[in-house]
Amino acid sequence: METVRITIIGAGVVGLAIAAELSKKYDEIILIEKHEKFGQETSSRNSEVIHSGIYYPTDSLKAKLCVEGRPLLYKYCEKNSIPCLKTGKLIVASDEFHIARLEELIEQGKQNGVADLRILGKDEIHKMEPEVNAVAALYSPDTGIVDSHSLMKNLFNEAGSSGVTFSFGSEIDQIDMDKEGYVIGIKDDDYKFRSKIVINSAGLSSDHIAGLAGIDVDTAGYRLKYCKGSYFSYAKRSPVNMLVYPVPHKDLSGLGVHATLDMGKRLRFGPDTEYVDSLDYTVDAKKRDVFYENAAEIIKGLDKGSFVPDMSGIRPKLQGPGEKTRDFVIADETAKGFPGLINLIGIESPGLTASLAIAKQSNILVKKCL
Ligand SMILES: Cc1cc2nc3c(=O)[nH]c(=O)nc-3n(C[C@H](O)[C@H](O)[C@H](O)COP(=O)(O)OP(=O)(O)OC[C@H]3O[C@@H](n4cnc5c(N)ncnc54)[C@H](O)[C@@H]3O)c2cc1C
Repeated sequence: METVRITIIGAGVVGLAIAAELSKKYDEIILIEKHEKFGQETSSRNSEVIHSGIYYPTDSLKAKLCVEGRPLLYKYCEKNSIPCLKTGKLIVASDEFHIARLEELIEQGKQNGVADLRILGKDEIHKMEPEVNAVAALYSPDTGIVDSHSLMKNLFNEAGSSGVTFSFGSEIDQIDMDKEGYVIGIKDDDYKFRSKIVINSAGLSSDHIAGLAGIDVDTAGYRLKYCKGSYFSYAKRSPVNMLVYPVPHKDLSGLGVHATLDMGKRLRFGPDTEYVDSLDYTVDAKKRDVFYENAAEIIKGLDKGSFVPDMSGIRPKLQGPGEKTRDFVIADETAKGFPGLINLIGIESPGLTASLAIAKQSNILVKKCL
């Protein structure tokens, strides 16, 4: 049976970043993706925001890898001419009640190592963004946006030119551990191969992949809950030039319906949070009123008729509704009896921002396994 050194499952931004990173050091790497192209799931259904790393609990992987990943990403984009822009971001308190929360957030951000955050008063906000409705705001100058498709294309090309083999249209449905590694099977295909190391970067299916490899998903706490986030685009010219967010939910289930821009300066509102049972990406047009009301709390003078149902994405969350926020799982499973299996589970936001740092973290785990 053919044996390779490393198999990466999933060609989202995380799998591609891992492939590009590992290909600098190792040969015999194969990346398997069930769709015909890269980036067909969560990595192309998100806000494309380069987060600064304010929100996440200090010492969590989310905070650490976001703060590490952000400058890596800006540098990578600059080096490879990938469109990105440091727009800056305002988290706005629309009434006095929310100001205390801004102060908590600035403290959290500082503890996480996010520099240059400051609280702005009404006049300063007005000078920067006259249409923003706020009594105070937290200003994050290092937040930005990135063209995620160009980023993935670059990572794909980099990995490919360094010798990574890509197998698209191949859905993994068998992972059996044996003495020399893992025997991997593909749906509707008799071909099987062995891999010494398996990196599970399968996004919304990463719990299923862990289960295929033999992990007891519920005992390990790896069962994913799908949390949909819908967007409405704004058909008129954007009244703002930077990203504008409300104060986030305390449980961080989402960051609140916010205003994001893409590289073409097109304004979008979202994502909301809705736990769902299946992967249905339809956007419910009936949500227009709620989206408009949420958006009008942070930006003045919006036209309700210009809110158009846009796309949605689904977060692979480890916590269910109302449950305590969970961290990314990035684990070498040797201690569970699965040497050479590396699971990446629950890679929700800020997974895009953190992608290059997640790749470096995965590299450290691979080194230990080899
Ligand atoms: C609504 C929303 C907004 C977000 N906004 C932001 C943001 O602004 N900034 C930010 O930093 N992050 C954001 N995120 C998070 C970010 O999008 C994700 O963390 C990131 O895209 C995860 O990438 P991934 O490669 O892990 O997963 P994916 O992109 O889902 O890739 C996983 C891949 O695995 C493949 N796969 C699955 N099962 C198999 C199998 N059996 N065999 C072969 N292949 C398989 C899938 O087809 C898929 O291509 C957001 C997420 C959502 C949902």
